Order: sequence, then C-alpha cells, then structure tokens
Amino acid sequence: MAGAMLGAIEAGGTKFVLAVGPSPDRITARTEIPTRDPATTLAAAARWFAAKGPVTRLGIASFGPVDRDPASFGWGRITKTPKPGWVDCDIAGYFMDRLGVPVAFDTDVNAAALAEYAAAQGEGCRSLAYLTIGTGIGGGLVLDGRPVHGIAHPEMGHIYPRRHPLDHDFAGICPHHGACLEGLASGPAVKARWGASLSELAADHPAHAIIADYIAQACHILFAVLSVERVVIGGGVAKTSGLVERIAARTAQLDAGYLPGGARHRVMAPRLGGDAGITGALMLAAAAKPSSPSARQGTSGRG
Ligand code: ZN
Repeated sequence: MAGAMLGAIEAGGTKFVLAVGPSPDRITARTEIPTRDPATTLAAAARWFAAKGPVTRLGIASFGPVDRDPASFGWGRITKTPKPGWVDCDIAGYFMDRLGVPVAFDTDVNAAALAEYAAAQGEGCRSLAYLTIGTGIGGGLVLDGRPVHGIAHPEMGHIYPRRHPLDHDFAGICPHHGACLEGLASGPAVKARWGASLSELAADHPAHAIIADYIAQACHILFAVLSVERVVIGGGVAKTSGLVERIAARTAQLDAGYLPGGARHRVMAPRLGGDAGITGALMLAAAAKPSSPSARQGTSGRG
C-alpha cells in the first residue's frame, strides 16, 4: 500500500518500545519511554507517533492480563494487573481516539510468539510456544500461523510446578496462586528470596538450577500437552548467561528421551533477540482491520 506506515507499541511493565516502519521487517524509527502512570505514558507515546508523521495502522502488544475478545466491551483494555494505576486502562481505545487509525491489540507474548514463528518459517516450523521470563511469566502459542486463544489469552505463567528439593521454604509471590511458576521463577520472585537478580548471582549459586528446573517443567508440559516443535525462551531473566542452555538441558532430563528427536534442541533463545515483541506488534499493525472492534470508537465514558 503506497504511503502505508505501520506503528507499533510493545507495552511493558517497565518500558514502552515504540516503532514505525512500512512493513514488519523494516523499522525506520524506534524509541523507548519509561512506563509511568497511564496518562503520562500514553500521552508521551502519542506525541512520539505524531512527531514521526501519521501512521495508518497501529499494533499494540501489551503486558497483561488484557481483554482481547473482539466481542467484549472491554476489548483493548489491560485488566487486573497488579501494576498500580493500570487496572482497566483502555490502551487500545486511547490510541484509536488519538490517532484515528485501525488498532490491533494482543498480549506482548502472543506478538512475540507470532514474530518468532515468522522468523522460523525458513526452518519449516509449524508450531511454537514463546515463554517470557521477566517481571512476570507469560506464554504465547502459535499453531499453523495462528495464535491460539481460549476464553482468554494463555496464562502459562500460572501453572503449578513440582517444587525443587532446595526450594521448599519459599511461599511464592503470585498474588493469586502463591507458588505458581510466576510466583516462583519470575524476576521479582528471584529477588524476593535471594536479594539479587539471577544475573547478579554467581554462576554456581543454586538459584540457577532451581529457576532452570521450574522453567524446564513448563517446557516439558508444553511439549507433552501440545507437542509443539519448539519453545522459545525470552524476557529479561532469560538473558542471564547460560540460563537457556540450563533450561534446555533440564528439559531433556525431564523428557527422558520420550520426545521424537529429543527435547534439548527444541528449547531456544529468540531468533529475533529483544526485537521479537516489537516486530510482532508491527505484524499486528499490518493485519489491523478497520472493521476490528473500532466500532467502539466514539463511545463515551472510556476510562
Ligand atoms: Zn499465579
């Protein structure tokens, strides 16, 4: 489309990544802004898009949980996040109003999964799960090119792993479940029991094996339940040196040779590195339709 310019937002708990480009594989400008309160953060993002010239479609890949049901009045909102001020924030509605363009909306992990799936097409991959290990733990699933959703988006961070023998005393920090995967293995969970991030702890600290074990259990579940071809491990904690390799090795132990071709090489770091989320947001923008839930456009009383 001549003159088409896609805009993308990867909305994270600590920063927003913004980008524009004519296609998902071509970012012509990008920036990052810190995540403050919604009014300040969304206004700063809108100003940046205005300064970069008009975008014709916008894709938003947001931290969750979100309402991404097109039939719901709450579509486009962040829902019950523990992040102060962001509960019920109508992030998609804000940008539909401010920019007046079609907006596509999904979770940051679903967008990252889509982008990693696209990047794996040269290798014939048809099914992929993406796990992000950071402030929270989330997962996205793509089968035959389509993100998979049920009544909401997947919540892979909230499964209950078997407790590691060296980690029985910690109650976990998930406000909903205590010792679920996110409650045990997210960045804040690591800090809560060892007082430092995983990358700050010595390579021989038991935390590395404990966290790798919990994430490996999630990988094993994904292989066993869904038979995905690969699990991509992204997010801030996953940048810890050696962690993805530890997870892959532990997953292979848990699998015990059951999976055809083995499990070890099926667990990997993102092909797109830190760009998976923003690339996925551009893919969402490219697919944004004017008839998407923008029927809500112009309704009053949006929060
Ligand atoms: Zn939980």
